[in-house]
Amino acid sequence: MAELWRGAPAADALCAATARAAAALSARGVVPALAIIRVGERPDDIAYERGAMKCCERVGVRTRGVSLPADATQERLVAALRVLNDDASVHGILLLRPLPAGMDEDAVRNTLAQEKDVDGVTDLSLARIFAGGTAAYAPCTARACMEILNFYGVDLRGKRAVVVGRSLVIGKPVAMLLLAAHATVTICHSRTADLPAVCRSAEILIASAGSANLIDERCLSPGQIVLDVGVNADGDGKLCGDVDFEAAREIVAAITPVPGGVGAVTASVLAGNAVTAAMRATE
Ligand code: NAP
Repeated sequence: MAELWRGAPAADALCAATARAAAALSARGVVPALAIIRVGERPDDIAYERGAMKCCERVGVRTRGVSLPADATQERLVAALRVLNDDASVHGILLLRPLPAGMDEDAVRNTLAQEKDVDGVTDLSLARIFAGGTAAYAPCTARACMEILNFYGVDLRGKRAVVVGRSLVIGKPVAMLLLAAHATVTICHSRTADLPAVCRSAEILIASAGSANLIDERCLSPGQIVLDVGVNADGDGKLCGDVDFEAAREIVAAITPVPGGVGAVTASVLAGNAVTAAMRATE
């Protein structure tokens, strides 16, 4: 039976370190601050915003919510981002996405000041992650995967890692982070030939396709560590990942659950990044 690698203990460890760093900054008169900017009232955005604010509050990061109506123009959103870019009391900015249809998401996300881009959404941040540097923040979910692997003591050096998904939010950046940790990385996507065979060859398998039960027993092999990033609804409307969890538990060595796995670590990564941004701003 596979070990269940929950996100909460990894998040707690990260939050404890972040709280210590935030307290040290506050003692010097700097209160780390994160702005969260949202357009419209999508329930997913509101839930994520609430979770992020709660986590920030827990570790001593001040939050400022900026919400624009669903029919706000792109110009108004860009203007709001520029105000936050120029506000020295804000150290990090989270832009909730996807943006409403009709907005040029690439143009908007690249408005963010790179030093405040704590969720790694700008091309500049991503380029820096791809270049292997440490000056940029990787997208929080990608970093959350690495935090879980680190927390549970996985030595990635020389390991075969397979990432299913090639988005800029998860697939590509997590592949770069795995590579930086000296894993040998394969990235799969919707046109990958014989996905099960590629997945079976993995020692570390990261599923981030957004497709319920895509990773079934044909994709799994004994000894694997499986991180399930997908967030989907099953036939009954229940939250599930990309991995056939019941099958995986009988085959692999360890798996993260959905909910309660990778998603449980994301907000603590965000809060940690906000504190790092505040530290860098004061240096
Ligand atoms: P996305 O932009 O839709 O990308 C999905 C990727 O998976 C694409 O690269 C796609 O390939 C690939 N894919 C889709 N179906 C596939 C298939 N049948 N076989 C192989 N590859 C396939 O999604 P995303 O933003 O990366 O998010 C992925 C999942 O993570 C979603 O379920 C999302 O809800 C979840 N998520 C979780 C968190 C968290 O904190 N846990 C945070 C963000 C997102 P192509 O490029 O060929 O189309």
